[in-house]
Amino acid sequence: MSFVLPSHPSGQPDTFDVAIVGAGPGGMTAAIYCSRARLATVLLERNTAGGIMAITERIENYPGFPEGITGFELSEKMKQQAAQFGADLREITTVAALDRQADGSWVVVTDEERVAARAVILSPGVEARKLGVPGEAEFMGRGVSYCATCDGALYRDKEVVVIGGGDSAVEEGMFLAKFASTVHVIHRRDELRAQKIAQERAFANPRMHFIWNSQVRRIVGDTKVEAVDYQNVIDKSVTTLPVSGVFFYVGQLPNTTLLQGVVDLDENGYILTDDHLRTSQPGVFACGDARAGLIKQIANAVGEGALAAIQVEKYLDGLDFGQAGGPAAGGAAAVEPAGTAAVEPAGVEGRARGDAAGA
Ligand SMILES: Cc1cc2nc3c(=O)[nH]c(=O)nc-3n(C[C@H](O)[C@H](O)[C@H](O)COP(=O)(O)OP(=O)(O)OC[C@H]3O[C@@H](n4cnc5c(N)ncnc54)[C@H](O)[C@@H]3O)c2cc1C
Repeated sequence: MSFVLPSHPSGQPDTFDVAIVGAGPGGMTAAIYCSRARLATVLLERNTAGGIMAITERIENYPGFPEGITGFELSEKMKQQAAQFGADLREITTVAALDRQADGSWVVVTDEERVAARAVILSPGVEARKLGVPGEAEFMGRGVSYCATCDGALYRDKEVVVIGGGDSAVEEGMFLAKFASTVHVIHRRDELRAQKIAQERAFANPRMHFIWNSQVRRIVGDTKVEAVDYQNVIDKSVTTLPVSGVFFYVGQLPNTTLLQGVVDLDENGYILTDDHLRTSQPGVFACGDARAGLIKQIANAVGEGALAAIQVEKYLDGLDFGQAGGPAAGGAAAVEPAGTAAVEPAGVEGRARGDAAGA
């Protein structure tokens, strides 16, 4: 799916000024800034625009919406804003590789075509981490889910399990409680890591039931989920709990497999940048959840998207003096990719959202 709005000054160029990988809040903000700066901008998205934000039921902490806003609505507004300045949004287009050209420009290889661009902004976000327990893969889509917003309505008046103790587990558990008769939250510790306000709401909800110090060992069923076996980590007892659905919220992994060997990544696969969001490759910048940084929130992805776009402008104008080998020189980056080394990367635990891995 592709569209170019007529307001774009140059139509569809052979070589874009900037290609943006991923149309979550980070990528869409970068697209707003780049296209508004009259850069020929293409935004490549493997699904539909919005990223994780689009499947978040309600967002209460993004400034400007005191009553909160649905993730879908906020996504649509950002998409509209990027489009109105002429960004070329290509949905259902998966980026598979990045090839650096001899002149320092880039070819972004998608499942459909090769897109030439003078600079690239990486904003591929993260995806849900799998726990790897028996039954998890087998019952995927048949009772096992990673998205309450997508699948919650299927569990009206049924009992479900949420695995995890962070923000996602609690917020999504509360969403499930609108449908399910009981939401059992199984957490390996004796207290939650979610924000206090979310905890207070969850504890006050009679449909929420907490099972502490426990880990899921197995998902049981014939053709669909029928129960989970969980083990108390203190007394080692195993209990079988009959449920219809199991929702995993045990951390996240960055969508950066395609970037291995292209830009420097940290030990957990997050993209390393300096404070100007420059990666280890000249002309390639990164923003949002996939970048090694402390905060994984929409407000942060939006701020980084703006910064990455402004840095691209400077780079294309030959004013990015901090980076050796600008667009003309095409040399290797002299920046320290470990500009984030002074801060602890969020790692697979998605710590900034309090989402615990291995729950
Ligand atoms: C359950 C849950 C609830 C949340 N609630 C809140 C909240 O209330 N408030 C808040 O501030 N934050 C919340 N967050 C965090 C917030 O959603 C993220 O911080 C934000 O979406 C990150 O934006 P992003 O643009 O970096 O990445 P994403 O939103 O993940 O977007 C990345 C995009 O890149 C695309 N992509 C990935 N790989 C490729 C590829 N190879 N080719 C093309 N496209 C690709 C993906 O499909 C995706 O659309 C929540 C997160 C979760 C999991």
